[in-house]
Amino acid sequence: MTEQNPQGESSCAVDLPISAETQTPPEEMETKAIASESEPIEPSAEPEATAPSGFSGFGFSDALLETLATKGYDEPSPIQRAAFPELMLGRDLVGQAQTGTGKTAAFALPLLERLQEGQRKPQALVLAPTRELAMQVADSFKAYAAGHPHLRVLAVYGGSDFRSQINALRRGVDVVVGTPGRVMDHMRQGTLDTSELRSLVLDEADEMLRMGFIDDVEWILEQLPEERQVVLFSATMPPEIRRLSKRYLNDPAEVTIQTKDREGKRIRQRSITVPMSHKLEALRRVLDACGSEGVIIFARTKAITLTVSETLEACGHQVAVLNGDVPQNQRERTVERLRSGSVDILVATDVAARGLDVDRIGMVINYDMPFDSEAYVHRIGRTGRAGRSGEAVLFVTPRERRFISNMERATGQPIEPMEIPGNAAINQGRLDRLRSRLSDAARNSRDSEEETALLQELIQRIGTELEMPAEQLALAALSLAIGPAPFLCQGDEEWIQQAAAGGRRRERDRDRGDGRRRGERPSRPPEDTMQRYRVEVGHRDRVKPGNLVGAIAGETGLQGRSIGRIQIFDHHSLVDLPKGMPEDVFNNLRSLRVMNRELQISQAS
Ligand code: AMP
Repeated sequence: MTEQNPQGESSCAVDLPISAETQTPPEEMETKAIASESEPIEPSAEPEATAPSGFSGFGFSDALLETLATKGYDEPSPIQRAAFPELMLGRDLVGQAQTGTGKTAAFALPLLERLQEGQRKPQALVLAPTRELAMQVADSFKAYAAGHPHLRVLAVYGGSDFRSQINALRRGVDVVVGTPGRVMDHMRQGTLDTSELRSLVLDEADEMLRMGFIDDVEWILEQLPEERQVVLFSATMPPEIRRLSKRYLNDPAEVTIQTKDREGKRIRQRSITVPMSHKLEALRRVLDACGSEGVIIFARTKAITLTVSETLEACGHQVAVLNGDVPQNQRERTVERLRSGSVDILVATDVAARGLDVDRIGMVINYDMPFDSEAYVHRIGRTGRAGRSGEAVLFVTPRERRFISNMERATGQPIEPMEIPGNAAINQGRLDRLRSRLSDAARNSRDSEEETALLQELIQRIGTELEMPAEQLALAALSLAIGPAPFLCQGDEEWIQQAAAGGRRRERDRDRGDGRRRGERPSRPPEDTMQRYRVEVGHRDRVKPGNLVGAIAGETGLQGRSIGRIQIFDHHSLVDLPKGMPEDVFNNLRSLRVMNRELQISQAS
């Protein structure tokens, strides 16, 4: 598997097996690493007390071997097995691998081992695209350096206190992990001295490229000492990264972990064709049918992240937003809330979600199509982590359908078509989730024995008072847990399907030039299948389209219905709803309050 590439560099491809069941043991190659492995890295439950055999033989110190054993690392992952021997020799390396493969330890362990004691100036510098990743990598370094208490690791990134970073740098630091902009600032003003630097790591190089940091990275590379080791990790290898590697790396070893198959197989990818005007409703339905715990929704703009999150919040979901307007320190808290489960859904733009690494993400929804297939690969890579399976759903308008094949090529996997979930799918989803919550609750008793006793007594007392069997009481308890809203979704599901189909027809017509174009003046009449309504809330009430969509779709009996164009004026708004709205639904809407004002809906003339 060791090959010569046109530059005469030896390279080694690491193919991960297609199936998670096939546990092929890693094959050691004569010179550079490895063949294959399969499963994601799971720390073993019972760490060995002695040094783990899997990591001995790379020349690591006993202290490091002990730290690894304590962390429960038994065996190196394929990327580690491939990288350790090269990096311990001080060689440059290009690694194609995503997060989740163990790439951080792949470079961190050899770098730590090669540090020289008693130096005051930084010896290793890691560049990462985001503050979050920089912090994660710095934390990993600190954890791996547990057996080397004298080592100092510092994370430097924008948005945090410059002065304290300068002070730490003055006191002496061995490893600096930072975002390119802040690292460059420190270098420019002489607070980060790179004259003794021995190693530089570019982590998630393609992300840095996509985020526009490549000039900064090149500037940094230009300033480094001639004699230095450069390690470049990237999930994808666009030509610009190859160019960078050719220019700045010296005869690098190449290691490729083909995560494509592995990620692709673990992530089920589907696409829903839906016109722009019905995306919100389709989204609500997907979340309702598939569950909404640990979901990332990618939207194209900040404004869309807000509309989506407001709509979902109005439907009772726990949502957080991550976009460029969210200050750095709050981003961290948001990611932490997602990780801990206090928030279920994150609505994010691509840039804000860079490097986001949260194991509990079960589904990624591409609410808007990504700009290119690389962005798609990155987005869906946020799910299917830590050995779990993941779902990826891509919303495409009829015009965007032609781009699906690009994404399929990029992931090497088919993207199956999916219908907007109907009522039956939604109800099945609700029932399944209720069943699993109930059985979890039944299996796991409450933490407090005192409370359990109290609740048991309560049940017995009520059972005796009302002369009711336990089953009837269990039903009552369940009903209490569900709440008063109808459990089953019974809205007119054909509405959304037809409206979606109508939208498809309309977009097709527009493609052919028969219809109206985007960016039309607001006075255009409603579509054929829609009726325009007037509601008495407007800008003066600070209403946003998301509030109206959420309220109309979620808080009345309009489950499953689609909402079209919304125009907000100072004192009122116009909302297009599919024709033929039942009278009772209309009456419900009249008294519905949005932003503290009754809608007083009426047909617009
Ligand atoms: P990374 O790809 O660097 O983001 O690492 C993914 C996860 O795997 C992290 O939580 C690491 O702590 C963990 N990890 C890395 N290497 C190993 C290993 N050899 N054994 C067990 N866990 C590991």
